[in-house]
Amino acid sequence: MMQTEEACSYMTFGAVMPFCKGCGHSNILKKLNDAMQMLHLDPMDVCLVTDIGCIGLADALFDKVHTVHTTHGRSTGFATGIAVADKVLAQKKLKTIVLIGDGGSMIGLLHIVNAALMNADVTVIVANNFLFGMTGGQTSSLTPEHFNTITSPFGSMNPSLDICSIADASKAGFIARKTATDKDLTQVIADAIAFGGFSIVEVLELCTEHGTKRNDLKGNMLAKMAEAEGHELGILKNDPLRKEFSLKYHDDVEVHKGEIKPLKFVEPLDNYNINRANGFVIAGSAGERVQSSAGMLSEASIKSGLNVTQKNDNPVTQGSGFSLSEVIISPNEINYTGVSSADYVIVVSENGLKELKGQKIFGRINDKTMFIVDESIDLGKEGLNVLSLPLRKYCGADKAALGAVDYIIRKFEPFPHEIFAGIIAKKFGEYGKIFKEGYYEL
Ligand code: SF4
Ligand SMILES: [Mg+2]
Repeated sequence: MMQTEEACSYMTFGAVMPFCKGCGHSNILKKLNDAMQMLHLDPMDVCLVTDIGCIGLADALFDKVHTVHTTHGRSTGFATGIAVADKVLAQKKLKTIVLIGDGGSMIGLLHIVNAALMNADVTVIVANNFLFGMTGGQTSSLTPEHFNTITSPFGSMNPSLDICSIADASKAGFIARKTATDKDLTQVIADAIAFGGFSIVEVLELCTEHGTKRNDLKGNMLAKMAEAEGHELGILKNDPLRKEFSLKYHDDVEVHKGEIKPLKFVEPLDNYNINRANGFVIAGSAGERVQSSAGMLSEASIKSGLNVTQKNDNPVTQGSGFSLSEVIISPNEINYTGVSSADYVIVVSENGLKELKGQKIFGRINDKTMFIVDESIDLGKEGLNVLSLPLRKYCGADKAALGAVDYIIRKFEPFPHEIFAGIIAKKFGEYGKIFKEGYYEL
């Protein structure tokens, strides 16, 4: 959309650059503003994404466009998500631009690699001043060999990484390396933004606070520095042949249309008997369907018209040790996960009990909390409301947690038991034949 004369700057009116005098960041941001003007972008169709470093202050200077300030080094990852969401789900108009320094780009290098491999419609501008400016001028992976920093006072012993080569190896379609004083920087940034797919512009510049104080450097020496490192300048690649990610995605959806199962949503029945939140804590061992039993409780509760949260926990090893789930069901909105005051605590194995004790379960109960435990379990604490049942004997180790959940719903009916029985039957077969005979008499 064409902008009116007075609306054509994307920067905050009268904005003062927050950078040190002579810092290359100011020039880069002005050129970015000029590039957006050149493209007549609607400010509402621009999203600037920033993170760590002095360049991360940029978002505050652009008040006309969308800005997202993300966590340390993660801006390209966030930007990829934003761009893909727009292109796949929304209006397909957004131009997503990452502003990142040499520090942030190295911390988040794999995000750049993946965005390039995906060919997401993201432009990454790397403001490369060869050091970590914000934290005091330390060496980064883009510091050239022999360049002095506070952590390499006799000159860096290592050559600098060629981020443009990495972008090339990651199949990026548009790659440029420029200096902040190049007259055509505005045009190159505009070309990068207009490119339909992943683009990256590395801009060499000076940190006047740390870089020029330790190195005999002027802006016109940047090109020579790049040459000494073997890094070519200019537009290194402008190849629009690879399809942008969302186009490939839509093609893929078209090809696999017949094979894609439509998402199934639970139809709520508005059929429950509780007027407050009920918290369930279910503890057992990995591989004993603790979390899937909690999932079935959640599904049945949603089907009954209740709100639900479920929080699962298990060790990194997944297939060994404890398995834990906390489920809240409530007729009201729930704004948190995790049970702070349990109504029902199910314990079906020693692994589960050990973990629950580690998580201080006895500090998260009230005087009405009911413990439903397998008969083999000794909670080791007096004065609790405990129901000890032969769950493992009648339900088997792999369905002891499910039997306990089923028992609670049968006896206390927070919602009609047939809803839960129906879900069990759908998964395992006829409800009355899932557990051993004695179970149904409990
Ligand atoms: S410390 Fe360096 S990078 Fe940061 S604002 Fe100052 S000159 Fe710029
Ligand atoms: Mg830097």
